[in-house]
Amino acid sequence: MEKVQCVRGTYDLYGDAKRKMNKVVATGATVVEKYGFEEIETPIFEFTEVFARNLGDTSDIVTKEMYCFEDKGGESLTLRPEGTAGVVRAFVSNGMQQNLPVKFFYHGPMFRYERPQKGRQRQFTQFGVELLGVETPQADIEVIAMAYEFLEKLGLSGQVTVEINSLGDAESRDAYRQKLVAYLQEHFDELSEDSKNRLERNPLRILDSKEECDKAVVENAPRYADSLNEASKQFFGDVLHGLDLLGIKYRVNDRLVRGLDYYSHTVFELTTDKLGAQGTVLAGGRYNGLVAQMGGGDVAGIGWACGVERLSMLLDETPYKQRPIAVIPVGEDAQNAALKIAHQLRLNGFCVEQSYSGNMKKRLMKANKVNAAYAVILGSDELANGSATLKNLDTGEQKNVALDKLTEELK
Ligand code: ATP
Ligand code: MG
Repeated sequence: MEKVQCVRGTYDLYGDAKRKMNKVVATGATVVEKYGFEEIETPIFEFTEVFARNLGDTSDIVTKEMYCFEDKGGESLTLRPEGTAGVVRAFVSNGMQQNLPVKFFYHGPMFRYERPQKGRQRQFTQFGVELLGVETPQADIEVIAMAYEFLEKLGLSGQVTVEINSLGDAESRDAYRQKLVAYLQEHFDELSEDSKNRLERNPLRILDSKEECDKAVVENAPRYADSLNEASKQFFGDVLHGLDLLGIKYRVNDRLVRGLDYYSHTVFELTTDKLGAQGTVLAGGRYNGLVAQMGGGDVAGIGWACGVERLSMLLDETPYKQRPIAVIPVGEDAQNAALKIAHQLRLNGFCVEQSYSGNMKKRLMKANKVNAAYAVILGSDELANGSATLKNLDTGEQKNVALDKLTEELK
């Protein structure tokens, strides 16, 4: 029989890996709730158009990475490759424009047909935030500060760099695009095949190409900053000034463009050199036109998303797990008493592992294996006078404790 296994690029998550991911998500939620963000959960699949129309038909996601399928009713559906389009769709579907700003966070699985490698999966988890309805740079500053605090709380701030750039408003973007295309056309023969194809449709993407030949051309390409109009320069200056005020260190990266069509003004990435080529752990930007594009009116937006697996790979400590108490009956007669005592302890908030079978030695070995802090040993003599033996499994010390004092003693 063929080996039973899961689909390439997908993983079963359990044990330490899953605990670390839970810690990333819980830490994220705690941080962003302080900024007034509330959780939203949108469906895992949407009409294909939600992504195809809004992420841009030249983005890598739309051209190569989407899991699309036709359901039995003939609808074209897609497993969500990212979170923003779904949240903005929910914002529009539910008419949330009445009460701005709207601040959401989300987490859950995303799906992209990519070449699996370390830190790159076909099903992966994102935690992200979206802030809708604020046009001023305060929003940009706040969401970046929030991202930074999040990584700080995970103990990672020393390992990550905040990279930031501005794509400016539509006018600046068009101006830059023209300059860039003119420059790249002069160097057409030196570009990679992929980039030759991108030149007409999505020239900005060439800036973050990983191909050596492209990198050499890009080296001398026109600078984005030179194409920003006054308003866009002012906006970007205000964002950077705010980050300075908050003591958040950043590096302006003139080549940072992000892969999706919907970005404008501020774009940013938090990167680390610890994960090889998959060094971006969190990425985001401003998307002022996206809500309007979905028919929701002129509402500004900004957000970010992080890769939960990538972040959890950076955590070196396994998150703390409450140590259990092992309840061990000696002989058949003590079985019912053990059941009741275990139940009582759990109602009092303790984590309890009942020992199910085996002699005393085996049961104690099992208690050590689950890292129990104490064992409550129930022998028939002790039970007869309403007590039990409480054994500290770290020191080996043991003493007799009255059953009605047990919770108190353990606390
Ligand atoms: P990359 O350049 O690594 O492909 P991206 O620009 O496609 O990243 P985003 O769409 O910005 O990534 O997603 C935000 C974050 O989600 C990334 O920074 C990364 O941490 C994580 N991520 C994206 N794709 C994957 C994947 N296939 N597997 C695991 N994590 C991913
Ligand atoms: Mg990608």
